[in-house]
Amino acid sequence: MDRPNPYYVPSKRRPKMTSEAELAAWMLAERTIEDPETGCLYWTGAAVNVGNVYGMVQGTNGVPDYCHRIIGRAYLGLQPDEVIDHVVSRGCSGLGLCINPEHLEPTTQAENIRRGQRWGKVAA
Ligand SMILES: [Zn+2]
Repeated sequence: MDRPNPYYVPSKRRPKMTSEAELAAWMLAERTIEDPETGCLYWTGAAVNVGNVYGMVQGTNGVPDYCHRIIGRAYLGLQPDEVIDHVVSRGCSGLGLCINPEHLEPTTQAENIRRGQRWGKVAA
């Protein structure tokens, strides 16, 4: 099985959670490792490589979802038509595995692509 997450650690048992806020808090507290240099909080669970590597987790509705989108909805008011930018100017490494809310910002697809070109990285 493909395991694209270099920070992966075997899963602890996940408590039953009904709200996305609860899930997001658990993800940050129990399933991340902090990079002491950048403050990035890297997801330590399952991940997918779709050009950039992103954490995936089963949502409270049972459907797998991107970790950064769950964090975005729970902490940053992410709307369905918005994407999440990993903001390098706030210290983020830009890796898609980071789910530190302080490094993430909801934005439009067009703005994210524009920023990606400015940073010289692939937009995600
Ligand atoms: Zn970060």
